[in-house]
Amino acid sequence: MSKMYYEGDANLHLFNGKTVAVVGYGSQGHAQAQNLRDSGVKVVIGLRPGKSWDQAENDGFSVFTVDEAAKQADVIQILLPDELQKHVYETQIKENLTAGNVLMFSHGFNIHFGQIVAPSDVDVILVAPKSPGHLVRRVYQEGFGVPALIAVHQDASGQAKDVALAYCKGIGSTRAGVIETSFKEETETDLFGEQAVLCGGVSELVKNGFETLTEAGYQPEIAYFECLHELKLIVDLMYEKGLSGMRHSISDTAEYGDYVSGKRVVGAPSRQAMQQILKEIQDGTFANNWIAENQNGRPEFNKIAASEKEHSIEKVGKELRQMMVWVNKEPVSSNN
Ligand code: NDP
Ligand code: MG
Ligand code: MG
Repeated sequence: MSKMYYEGDANLHLFNGKTVAVVGYGSQGHAQAQNLRDSGVKVVIGLRPGKSWDQAENDGFSVFTVDEAAKQADVIQILLPDELQKHVYETQIKENLTAGNVLMFSHGFNIHFGQIVAPSDVDVILVAPKSPGHLVRRVYQEGFGVPALIAVHQDASGQAKDVALAYCKGIGSTRAGVIETSFKEETETDLFGEQAVLCGGVSELVKNGFETLTEAGYQPEIAYFECLHELKLIVDLMYEKGLSGMRHSISDTAEYGDYVSGKRVVGAPSRQAMQQILKEIQDGTFANNWIAENQNGRPEFNKIAASEKEHSIEKVGKELRQMMVWVNKEPVSSNN
């Protein structure tokens, strides 16, 4: 089993007299900044004028332009969208780094794929909470924390790993457990997970199931419940008890169907596709495509996003969810 780091392995005193600049105040930024502040760390926020800036000020932070925040800070955590990090780094952060500073990320993409190359006299580390930002905050407020990964790309100070662990303590993650990884491993597994399983794989599985039922003449509302709504209940069981625990809770009929049919849906061709997707992540094909897509104004991204929004599962789902008051409590689109 991988070595796990906990509270006793981390020392928040490393931040005594230091300033942490959290650059970006979105999903991760607002959560990490607020947790660090509640842990006694001095935090400033780096932003451009706009919605996040107003929010950070309302939350009581000192907010500066990115270059000003970077100038003031000893530790700079970059929590901007990945595709904007290179530009903001080049234009506003790079010239404000001084020897002994710590440059941080929550995803390894830009370091691993060589988009950002830091000067050799700064530490470059990763602290990646394994959770959406809003849970990073909520779980901390409940007195616990979410697990996180750390990695060291560059250790100029000789204490880069200790700084990463201290940061984890500040955001609550050493209460849950921290695992050391590399920028390469974090980047490649994160991209693979979201493409093959969590986002890409699941979305297509849901849509194909829904379309198969509706094309066969079943009511879209029923198809929605069977193929999308109930997914959460199954995933919650898997999350709490693993696959066997989930199978313990479902009916024996469902369990038999799981065993005999699952492999027919996700079989050898899907495995081969997964291997090819992993290869294209490892050899940089995916990263190059995504970088080029952004440079070209995202034609493919925007086209597919628009057509996905028009899918009939989205229409029926919107109507059904309006009736489900318990689902509607919190809009997932809100930033903070
Ligand atoms: P969000 O999109 O939620 O937030 C981005 C923030 O950056 C916003 O506050 C936005 O402010 C600000 N911003 C955008 N452009 C600029 C700019 N040019 N100058 C200054 N500020 C700007 O990002 P996430 O929190 O989702 O992602 C941040 C990092 O965390 C990424 O590396 C991501 O991979 C990683 N990560 C994210 C997870 C998540 O839960 N979302 C999970 C684990 C890692 P404005 O209001 O002005 O647009
Ligand atoms: Mg990701
Ligand atoms: Mg059923």
